[in-house]
Amino acid sequence: MSSNAHISEIFNSIQGEGLFVGTRQVFVRFEKCQLHCAYCDTPQSRNISRYCRVEKTPGKRDFYNIENPLNKEHAEELIRTLWSPSTRHISMTGGEPLIHADFIKKLNLEYPLYIETNAGFPEKAGELKDMIAIASCDIKLPEHGSTDHYTELLKNELETISIFYETSKTFVKVIILPETTTQSISPAVNGVASIDSNIPFILQPVTSKQKVSSELLLLLMDFAGKKLKDVRVIPQTHRMMGLL
Ligand code: SF4
Repeated sequence: MSSNAHISEIFNSIQGEGLFVGTRQVFVRFEKCQLHCAYCDTPQSRNISRYCRVEKTPGKRDFYNIENPLNKEHAEELIRTLWSPSTRHISMTGGEPLIHADFIKKLNLEYPLYIETNAGFPEKAGELKDMIAIASCDIKLPEHGSTDHYTELLKNELETISIFYETSKTFVKVIILPETTTQSISPAVNGVASIDSNIPFILQPVTSKQKVSSELLLLLMDFAGKKLKDVRVIPQTHRMMGLL
């Protein structure tokens, strides 16, 4: 089991996406990802880099570098230093944090863990589920260009969601592109409904120059709302506020 991990950055900020938008968190952004989504907003974290950058003062962007890989004790110390009175979770993000399940499993922290995952590794979700308080699970759409094996990815994502849903507060996030259709989103809607129609299902319009029309968002909401009870549209708010 690995006691070291390549981490891209560690900082304290405000969660800008999903059901817990507005909540203060310490973010641990792991490196490496098995996918290649066309809209990826953290491409730097998909590669291995020599240094992990750590923000000294929340919001100041006064980063210093630490050599990668980080050991567990050092990561725990940095997280504790960045914790603050209004902080509520440690967000394990990426890249893809489940690639680092062995490392996360070893962390010994007194704070609730929130994981932001592309949900592609059900086995690793099974290993971590008992220590995860909140799971934000993506479902990719064919038009995202994330993989050459879409059917397999979708199957793994749905399995991961059902595993986390057993023990953690779990919600699903789907990025909506201007070209998304009811047809392309249909397998995701049906798959989540077959697990539990109460699972929150967040449509997140992609942050890009090409805007997703309100007409399309409302159409997709109604489409998903026929099978799911909690469908919401939540954009990336940290981008609006100029936060990390
Ligand atoms: S899963 Fe996330 S980190 Fe990986 S390529 Fe897609 S958007 Fe980027």
